Amino acid sequence: MQLATLAAGFVEALGRLSATSDDYVPSIVTLLIDQARSARASDIHLVPTETALVVQWRIDGVLHPIAGFDRDLAPRVVARLKVISGLLTYRTDVPQEGRVSREFSRTEVRITTFPTLHGEKAAIRLFAENDQLQKLTQLGLPEEIETELRRHLAATAGVILLTGPSGSGKTTTAYACLRDIIADSVGTRCIMSLEDPVEVAVDGATQSQVRPTAGFDLATGLRSLMRQDPDVIFVGEIRDPATAEAAFQAALTGHLVLTTFHAGNAAEAITRLLEMQIEPYLIRSGLRTVICQRLLRRICTNCRDQVGHNAANPSKSSESGRTSDKFALQPVHRIACAVCGSTGYHGRLVLAEMLNPNSPEVAKAILNRSDAPEVSRRAAASGMQTLNQRAAAAVTSGQTTHEEVLRVLGSIV
Ligand SMILES: [Zn+2]
Repeated sequence: MQLATLAAGFVEALGRLSATSDDYVPSIVTLLIDQARSARASDIHLVPTETALVVQWRIDGVLHPIAGFDRDLAPRVVARLKVISGLLTYRTDVPQEGRVSREFSRTEVRITTFPTLHGEKAAIRLFAENDQLQKLTQLGLPEEIETELRRHLAATAGVILLTGPSGSGKTTTAYACLRDIIADSVGTRCIMSLEDPVEVAVDGATQSQVRPTAGFDLATGLRSLMRQDPDVIFVGEIRDPATAEAAFQAALTGHLVLTTFHAGNAAEAITRLLEMQIEPYLIRSGLRTVICQRLLRRICTNCRDQVGHNAANPSKSSESGRTSDKFALQPVHRIACAVCGSTGYHGRLVLAEMLNPNSPEVAKAILNRSDAPEVSRRAAASGMQTLNQRAAAAVTSGQTTHEEVLRVLGSIV
């Protein structure tokens, strides 16, 4: 079904609800979540404007405007979301976050609210049922990266750094790693986490959520956690030098530390650690591997096949005259496609690069405190397939488009 049709269906279903019923607002919220889920949305945004509450769905990483509620309804809808996720309905002046109770949703749904000029904005994160079950093999990482990562996960010490910007899927990868460690260790390793917040509950791991206001932050929490005799520690995200320092200390004292880190590429993660005052020798001896990843939308094979969009169809390409059309496969917006809602894309593709800090070339660059381009150049020279190289290959093999690479990586491949 086309996205426009889905949106129209949603608006129509809203119109069928009885505004006088006691259940009116709860029904709106149920409909809101159910319809977004059936459209494969990962997030719903409710954005208050001067005149309306605008509904947007994020599908395969891209936000689409869907509908608008009457301005008067906005606070009631947001209040209902707060009720089902245990938030304080009377506090509209502070950001809040919570998860929808199992009574209202079988699968994981997280809600965050944020005060804005025109009232509270709400963001609803919908976790797919299988988000909570995914294993490493299901992520679609390049095979050699998956194999190498598995080897690191079996190690008894060192830091494994999963990097990328937000929305790159690094957290999903981290949880998949945790599940694999748990499955492989069959209860023989003590696995603990420190997170801010705990995003997904994982059976077999002892997870804790920090409370910085109570003095329980990642850095101090990590030091206390050492005394709990863990073998594997998952740190939700390293954001500051103190946490980075504590994570490396843990790694050097015989713990495997799995963590995520915000960085545009693997080499940049190294230079950011240096900027956080982690000494080069600590990085050299403590860091096992750095993976950086991105999620790109896949070309919808249904509408690509319908119009026979391929290299043998140059007439359509020349119509627009854009240079990027020289690439074989482009998203097709011209025809109605039930599979992708006529966006031209369906599903996602993981691009990843894996940097080995112990290769002699890279090790030298780290010890010399080289900048990110230099670290990247040396890593590539010692065999790392970069994100750009993998993106180029994905375009050539018809899995994604040049535009999509440009949107996500911001560079021309
Ligand atoms: Zn399609």
